[in-house]
Amino acid sequence: MENLTMLQFFEWYYPADGSLWRFFASEARRLKDIGIDTVWLPPAHKGMGGEQASGYDSYDLYDLGEFDQRGGVRTKYGTKQEYIDAVQTGKQAGLKIYADIVLNHMGGAEEREEITVRKVNPENRTEFISEPYQIEAFTKFTFPARAGKYSDFIWDHNCFAGVDYDARKQETAIYKIQNEYGEDWQEVMSDELGNYDYLMLSDIDFRNPQVREELKRWGKWFYETAGFDGFRLDAIKHMDPGFFNEWLDDMRAEFSSEFYTVGEYWAPGNLGAMLKYIEATQERMSLFDAPLQANLHRASIEGKDYDLRTIFDDTLVQARPELAVTLVENHDTQPLQSLEQTVEPWFRPLAYALILLRAGGYPCVFYTDLYGSSYEDSDKEGQTQRVTMEKMRELEALLFLRKHHAYGVQVDYFDDPQCIGWTRQGDEAHPGSGCAVLMSNGLGTTKAMEMGKSFAGIVFTDHLGKIDEQVIINEDGWGEFKVYAGSVSVWAPAGQ
Ligand code: CA
Repeated sequence: MENLTMLQFFEWYYPADGSLWRFFASEARRLKDIGIDTVWLPPAHKGMGGEQASGYDSYDLYDLGEFDQRGGVRTKYGTKQEYIDAVQTGKQAGLKIYADIVLNHMGGAEEREEITVRKVNPENRTEFISEPYQIEAFTKFTFPARAGKYSDFIWDHNCFAGVDYDARKQETAIYKIQNEYGEDWQEVMSDELGNYDYLMLSDIDFRNPQVREELKRWGKWFYETAGFDGFRLDAIKHMDPGFFNEWLDDMRAEFSSEFYTVGEYWAPGNLGAMLKYIEATQERMSLFDAPLQANLHRASIEGKDYDLRTIFDDTLVQARPELAVTLVENHDTQPLQSLEQTVEPWFRPLAYALILLRAGGYPCVFYTDLYGSSYEDSDKEGQTQRVTMEKMRELEALLFLRKHHAYGVQVDYFDDPQCIGWTRQGDEAHPGSGCAVLMSNGLGTTKAMEMGKSFAGIVFTDHLGKIDEQVIINEDGWGEFKVYAGSVSVWAPAGQ
C-alpha cells in the first residue's frame, strides 16, 4: 500500500448515544473505497463519566462496555461486542485500526484512602507549598462490578503520583502523593509548569513496578480481545518516555507485530521538545505534527498577511517527515474545545492539499471534514455558543488525488508569499499519476510550473472543479497553471 491516509473517526461532540462503533462498521467499506487506509478509533474503555465519557478520563481499562460500572454498561461509543465487531469489520474492509491508549491518569475510584501528601504550586509543580499532611483521596480502585474478571489488580495510592481533590476538606488543589516510590514527580520531558507530570485526576506512577506489569498484562489482554493493528497514545507529554519504550517493546516482542504507533506530544510552539522526545523514544513512535497544525491555524486567521512560504517552518514534517503525522484539526483543537486552535473553513482545502498531496508526512483526516458536525457548548467566557462545522466539499477529490496522482518527484515553487505551488511528476508504478498544486491566500493568479517532458501535449484540468479552463503542457514539460483568490486548484491529466 502506498500514500497511506489515516482517519480520526470521532470528534469531541459525537453524540453519547452508544452508536459510534456500529456507525463505523457500517461505513468501513465506503471509507476504504474513498482512500482511507487506517482508522484511529476513540478510547474503548470505560471512563469515569460512564456512558457520557470520551474515555480520556480512564476508569477501568478492562471494561470495554461490559460491566455495569459508572452508571451503565456501554461506553459513549457502544458495547464491548460492538467494539470488537467494529474492529473486525474494519479489518475485513481492508482498513487497519489504531486503538486509543490513555494511561496517564485514572478517575472514578470507589474508595477513599487516608494518604500523606504535599501541596504544590500549580504554576510551578516543583515547588511544595505545604509540609506533608494527610488528606482523604479517592485513590482506591476495586471495580466491584467486574469483580476480578480478567485481572484482580487493585489500584491504590502507591499506584499514583498525584491527585487533585481532598475529600476531607472538600478542597481542590494539586497534591503530590508521598508514596513509597518518591516524594517528587516523575521525570517527564516537558518542563512546562516546572514539571508537567500531573495533568488531571489520579496521575499514574510508573515507578511502581506492579503498575508497569499490570499495564503490560492489560495490553496483551486488550490486543487478544480486540485485535487492532496499532496505537494512538494519549497525553505522552505528561509521562516518562521510558514507560512506553518498555511497554511497546514488550507488546511488539510478544506478538511479533509492528503495532504502528503515534503519540500525542502536543507542543505546537516547541519543535525542539518534540525532537527530544523522539530521541528519548528512539523512533519507536511517530508524533502528531502539532507545530504544523498551529501554522495552518495561523495561516487561516491571518489570510493574505500570512507568508505561505513559511507554512512548513519549524514543523515536524519538515524536520522528521518519516515520523510526522500531519493533521488539520482534532477533537481537542476543534471550536470550543480545550486546545481550541481551529483552521478556518476557507483555508481547510488548502490545508488538506498541503498534508495530502506532498511527499512527506502521514496525513490524518478529521471526522468533521468527512461528516460535518453541529453542536453547542460554552466558550471561555461561559457563554453558550452554537458551532457548525461543514463537511469539506473537496475532501473526497483530494483523497482520490492522493491515491492516484500524488507520486513521484516533487518540485516546489515556494516563491511568492501569497501563492505557492508544487508539482508531482508521477512515477511508473502509478500509470497516469502526476499533478500540479497551486494555492493562493491573496488574489487569483497564475504560475508556470514544470511537470516534465513526458507530459508534453497532455491536457490538464482542475480536479477540484474550481476552474473550467484547461492547461496544455508545452513541449518543454511546463504548464501555466491558474488559481482563484483564497483558493486551491489541483491540476492533473484530464479524465484520470
Ligand atoms: Ca503523569
